[in-house]
Amino acid sequence: MKMILLGPPGAGKGTQAKGIAARYGIAHISTGDMLRAEVREGTPLGREAKAYMDKGQLVPDEVIIGMVKNRIAAPDCQNGFLFDGFPRTTAQAEALEKITDIDRVIDIEVPDERLIARISGRRMCPLCGATYHVSTYGSSHCACGGVLYQRDDDRAETVAVRLTEYHKKTAPLIDFYAQRGKLLTVNGDAPVDAVAEEIARELEA
Ligand code: AMP
Repeated sequence: MKMILLGPPGAGKGTQAKGIAARYGIAHISTGDMLRAEVREGTPLGREAKAYMDKGQLVPDEVIIGMVKNRIAAPDCQNGFLFDGFPRTTAQAEALEKITDIDRVIDIEVPDERLIARISGRRMCPLCGATYHVSTYGSSHCACGGVLYQRDDDRAETVAVRLTEYHKKTAPLIDFYAQRGKLLTVNGDAPVDAVAEEIARELEA
């Protein structure tokens, strides 16, 4: 099972991806998490990516495609995988078609005005990557013990750039995958469990 989760920043891709990957026993591949790990470790790739990420811009396609190619060759991807945050441009989607066949693409739809509130209240765990929202989670610590922080690119000034990048470069992938008969659409403007149920229903229909 090889799948993609599409949707704007703040749509809940990371949260849903963890559930789907666990349910179907497939690897969860978040290019954002992979890039943040490179940044933390101070690798050359991380240093190059950081300049784009800090501004809310997309990291160049060649960097991402190389990283993904290596990742899906790993043993934990043999059963299948779920991309979260990849592909984000038509060039990435076309490169992916040359590497492997994708079975299903799930587009999580959330209106822009809801995304701003969701992203600005989001807090992340540096240890396990879990995300929480300040409106529903009162603690400053993750369930795993990590001290929650706000991602630099979740600050209001950067969020507007990320949404513009999404509409200009990533949203065209909705048509790209619809034309290939792979697209499922779910309403992401609902509680986490309701979205998870709708995804499972769509996938198993
Ligand atoms: P995310 O955690 O998916 O929101 O990604 C955080 C940031 O990492 C994005 O704003 C981009 O700068 C970069 N990034 C993650 N995935 C990609 C991708 N597939 N293509 C280009 N840039 C990416």
